[in-house]
Amino acid sequence: MENFTDSLQHFLFENTPIHGNIVHLNHTYQQVLQHQTLPLVLKQALGELMAASALLSATLKMEGAMVLQLQSKGALKLLVVECSSSLEMRATAKWDVERTDEIADSTFLNLVKNGHFVITLDPNSGAPYQGIVPIEGETIAEMLENYMQRSQQIDSSLWLHCDGESASGMLLQKLPEQLGQNLEMQDADAWNRVNVLAQTVTTEELQNLSPERLLTRLFSEEDIRLFEEKPTRFHCSCSKTKVSNMLRLLGADEVNSIIAERENIEVNCDFCNKQYVFDAVDAAALFASEPVIKLSDSTH
Ligand SMILES: [Zn+2]
Repeated sequence: MENFTDSLQHFLFENTPIHGNIVHLNHTYQQVLQHQTLPLVLKQALGELMAASALLSATLKMEGAMVLQLQSKGALKLLVVECSSSLEMRATAKWDVERTDEIADSTFLNLVKNGHFVITLDPNSGAPYQGIVPIEGETIAEMLENYMQRSQQIDSSLWLHCDGESASGMLLQKLPEQLGQNLEMQDADAWNRVNVLAQTVTTEELQNLSPERLLTRLFSEEDIRLFEEKPTRFHCSCSKTKVSNMLRLLGADEVNSIIAERENIEVNCDFCNKQYVFDAVDAAALFASEPVIKLSDSTH
C-alpha cells in the first residue's frame, strides 16, 4: 500500500466554488480500537464518524476541537469522536453491555433510531458552539450531509467507508454563495457535474487509492489543485488537571465520602483507558483554598 494512510489531503476544483478533502485512517483508527472492544457494527460506525470528523474539521478555519456525537436511547447510548484542528483524534462508544449481543445482531440504523446528532465546536479561544439535530438519513454520510445543509446551509457530499480495520472518506463542498458567487457564475454546472462523477466511486477505490490517483480516476477532465497531505494521529487530551476539575464539580462532600469508603478515587479515561488515582491527600488538595498546581500537570 502506498504511504497515504493516516493522512488528509485538501483539494479544490480550479475556477469553481468547490473544494474537498480525502482522508485515510489506519493507525489512528487502530489505536482508538486498542482501548475498547466493540461489536463490529459499532467499530464500523465509529470509524466512519472518525473519517467524517477529520474531513469536516479540516474545512474549519478555527483552532480548537470539533466533537461529533451520535446520541441514542436504546442499547447504544453514544458514539463520540473528537478531532482537533491539527487532526489529533480520539473516539469512544458507550452502550448497554448487557445488550451487546443484541447490538452485534442489529443494523446501525436500528441502533440510532430516534437519536440525535450533536456537533460541538470548541475553539481554543472564545465560546463553544453546539448544534443538536434529530438524526435524518440512512447512513452517517447522509446524516451529516443533512446536518450541513439544514444547519450550516452548506452543500456537502460525503463518502465514508470503514471495514473494521481502517477508515476512509471523501468530502465535496460548495463554498457559501457570498464567497463563491463569482466562481459559480463562471461554471454554474460544476457542482452537479462533479457530484455525478464522484457518485461512481467504489468503497474499494476510496479505501485503496491514494488521493492523487482517486481524484485522477474520478475527475480526469477537471482541473484540480491538490494540497500537501497532513498527518492524522491518535491523541487523548485527558490529564490529571482535567480529572481534578471534574472532581471539584462533584464537590468536597461527595469526593470525601468516596475516599472514606474506598481510600482512593480511581477515574478511568473513556478514550484511552488511562487511570487517574486520587488518595486522601490529593483529594484534600482539590479543595484547598489555593489551587495546588504541580508543574508536571500544567503542561497539558
Ligand atoms: Zn485519555
